[in-house]
Amino acid sequence: MSRDPHGLEHPWADGPAQGTLREVAPGLHWLRMRVPFPPEHINLWLVEDGEGWTIVDCGLGLDETRAAWERIFADGLGGRPVTRILVTHFHPDHLGLGTWLSARWDAEVWMTQGEWMTARGVHPEAGAAEIANKLAFYRRNGVPEASLQGFATPPNSFYRSMVPAIPQRFVRLSGGQSLRIGAHEWRVVIGRGHSPEHACLWCPALGALACGDILLPRISPNVSVWATEPLGDPLGEYLSSLDGFAGVPEDTLVLPAHGQPYRGIHRRIAALRAHHDERLDRIVAALAEGPRHAVGCFPLLFRREIGAANMGLALGEAVAHLHRLVSQGRATRLPASGGIQLFAAA
Ligand SMILES: [Zn+2]
Repeated sequence: MSRDPHGLEHPWADGPAQGTLREVAPGLHWLRMRVPFPPEHINLWLVEDGEGWTIVDCGLGLDETRAAWERIFADGLGGRPVTRILVTHFHPDHLGLGTWLSARWDAEVWMTQGEWMTARGVHPEAGAAEIANKLAFYRRNGVPEASLQGFATPPNSFYRSMVPAIPQRFVRLSGGQSLRIGAHEWRVVIGRGHSPEHACLWCPALGALACGDILLPRISPNVSVWATEPLGDPLGEYLSSLDGFAGVPEDTLVLPAHGQPYRGIHRRIAALRAHHDERLDRIVAALAEGPRHAVGCFPLLFRREIGAANMGLALGEAVAHLHRLVSQGRATRLPASGGIQLFAAA
């Protein structure tokens, strides 16, 4: 056990070796799959469930992930089948192989309605209208005209490359629902803002919470406004959804999708809130000097250079912080001048 600089306790210094399971609580196992880009890996959870296994999240829809699963199936599951697939949210590392796993084991995919419908909505091949809508959002929020054409690509091409198919049907998970997995009851706690209706799975008896991407130990999960809902306030949704974890004891073992398991959930939630508060304050201070658009807030939020690879996430985060300030009454949206949306101090 070690304590990190932020006061979180990490029971393990490393992850399970590639292709092996590590039992983190009775009947609850940790499997790590490689992701060939940051954050480099995803943690999946396998729960002994009577005669079979319930798995939590699927890994990317890549040949190497399929091969890794086949090695686990060959000798890691004690001859017992996968009988249920729980998916926390629609993002590619979580849902990627969901359809394949479901067919491979004739097992149902369980997810929230919000995540399943979003996956179904995002996946179809994008046409010219969707590209134009993305470019309009970029232009309005301050991406320079000269670089706009560099972004004239389908907004879902990465998603489609990592999620070969969306399940044709699902079994619904809902916030507050209790489901039995093996010997224990698990409760669904919904996180919002990172994705529409992200399911976290809390087992009070085991003292464990599979939190997906909502409560990562080191980074704050991406919370973005997207071109498909350009006036949204996802940061408000994210922060208020964290109230849903109020009843989870501080010594609960938090099992994040990326990074190391930890104890100290409320310390972590406080740090995430403080992180966003600090960024919101920084933007308010800058707006007091004069109006800005979202791209103009990049130097306040990011140390890295923002280019083609990270523009979507960076722009989404910047707009999300500005919209939170508008909702709080600390910033106002000026009438668009020359088609550019500026924000001013309230
Ligand atoms: Zn995610």
